Amino acid sequence: MATNINEYYRQELAPVLPPTVLDFHTHTWSADNWKERPWDTDKSGGRYMVTQPFYPPEQLLQDGRACFPDRTYEAVCFGYPTPATDWEKDTAYVAAAARQHRGLWPLVLAGPDLGVSRERYEQVLDAGGFRGFKVFLNWYGDDYGNKRIEEMLGPVELALANERRLVVLLHVPRRGRLADPEIQAGVRWLARECPRASIVLAHCGRCYLPSEMKAAIGCLRGLTNVWMDTSMVMDPLVIQMALNEIGPGRLLFATDFPVAAMRGRRVRVLNHWVDVVLPGYPPSAYRITGEGFEAGYMAWEIALAIRWAAELVGISDAERDGIFYGNGMKLLNPEPCGARR
Ligand SMILES: [Zn+2]
Repeated sequence: MATNINEYYRQELAPVLPPTVLDFHTHTWSADNWKERPWDTDKSGGRYMVTQPFYPPEQLLQDGRACFPDRTYEAVCFGYPTPATDWEKDTAYVAAAARQHRGLWPLVLAGPDLGVSRERYEQVLDAGGFRGFKVFLNWYGDDYGNKRIEEMLGPVELALANERRLVVLLHVPRRGRLADPEIQAGVRWLARECPRASIVLAHCGRCYLPSEMKAAIGCLRGLTNVWMDTSMVMDPLVIQMALNEIGPGRLLFATDFPVAAMRGRRVRVLNHWVDVVLPGYPPSAYRITGEGFEAGYMAWEIALAIRWAAELVGISDAERDGIFYGNGMKLLNPEPCGARR
């Protein structure tokens, strides 16, 4: 049965979205700013998430408008956080994107392995309009090894994040994700080290599956400066657990464009996720291409998961709007130093 996907959007999604949608996790990049294309190397993890080599801000905003055609779309955006990236070029590219386009809120890649001085960070934070840090991942794909959060931010990054009340968007490493005791200790350490920063765990701490969220979410109780972005999380049960444990004020709608601009859905199969997509996307790990079914944008599936969880938990419309917009805007515009949040 053919479905008009735009009709589906109007009926199922439009009624639960606020006038402006803030997407708290997106990328913009150019392979001209890379030293190599990860999937053309034979490095471990290089073929984990194959995507397009060029994703300019115009395309990001076009994807946002395609997904939410009757809403204003704004996005927190950052570059390509892998060892392939030339930091200076990537930083200049993201700063220019935010300068040239309304509604883009840039983050700069940060981490001790980048070798950036405090002075250089301060220059780009002052001149580039950056609202915070996207913590640099010094590895490809799912080659997380035994990385610890304590290695991913150095004294310079921690001090700046705290002094300037920055957003610190962190993709947690290790196979166990946010359920790993090492990671939980790392999140607590980070929350303690920079109490004035807004720490955001990408992809709900990489808990795409209910079993992962169930094992992880308890660790965020009492950590009032830690939020979660919902990028690529499409299981309503995962969001429901998060809402039950930490409430609606600490969730931020997010997509991970360009990834969530694909049409399809991330589903759970046994103990891993699988991206089921329509034809036309490059082969990638855990990506299955199929025909004979209708699919909307993955971004819709993320929003639908929030919709269903919000209904089941019984949060108010205003609280749901907060997930799609207001919660994130507070993080991007913190009260001046000295004020309490
Ligand atoms: Zn991402």
